[in-house]
Amino acid sequence: MVSFGIPGIRRPGDGKRSTGYRCLSEEHHMEGQQLLIPCSSCGGNRRNHHVLKEYINRWGNEDIQGESVYQICKCAGCNDIRFRIESSNSDDIDYRTGEAQIVENVYPEAIESSRLPIDTSRLPDSIARIYKETVIAFNAGALILAGGGLRATVEALCQDKNVPDGNLQSKIDNLAGQGFLAAPQADLLHEERYLGNAALHEIVAPSKLDVQDGFDIIDTLLTTIYILPDKAERLRLKRTRQPAP
Ligand SMILES: [Zn+2]
Repeated sequence: MVSFGIPGIRRPGDGKRSTGYRCLSEEHHMEGQQLLIPCSSCGGNRRNHHVLKEYINRWGNEDIQGESVYQICKCAGCNDIRFRIESSNSDDIDYRTGEAQIVENVYPEAIESSRLPIDTSRLPDSIARIYKETVIAFNAGALILAGGGLRATVEALCQDKNVPDGNLQSKIDNLAGQGFLAAPQADLLHEERYLGNAALHEIVAPSKLDVQDGFDIIDTLLTTIYILPDKAERLRLKRTRQPAP
């Protein structure tokens, strides 16, 4: 029989220390409900999964409390079964939000750890080099370096396009202002900037999925700016050289 609650575990407000920690599962029993977790069979993005079975283990003493929630989940798209563990404890509090940090692990892991770079032969050397090193860092599991490398790739791109000096935020806005980017792409790039900031300035390791999303943004951007115009030019030349029918 599953036992919910540990005798003597402190609840928020009844202890000497106030961490704001509260077991999530006190309010959210997920069995029979749906969760968004990554599914490799459905492309690696988060998909709705039915929580078929859930087991909650709460633990603690006077100094620290925590819980782990174990879930057997079934993808609503492809019916694949995977196992999710969600853990938190009263010592790991996000100082920015005051909330407990939740660590999520999903098995088998949804994301392949090997990523292929885009064709870098048409990129300026300075951009190609930092971009390729960023891919290597990611494939080696160095997520902080990969997050920082994506940011550095954006900096190199701004330098190549002679975007006026300023912080990265204004450079990205300038890229959009000069017509290199559409507004939605600039918005995505700002998200990428936040990821790089957290990685480099706060030394917070981004999740694999966050870096993967960052690469998707940068790959699209580099392709739009450096590769597609070349392809368009090649097609145009081919068309204009063809003898008129
Ligand atoms: Zn799926």
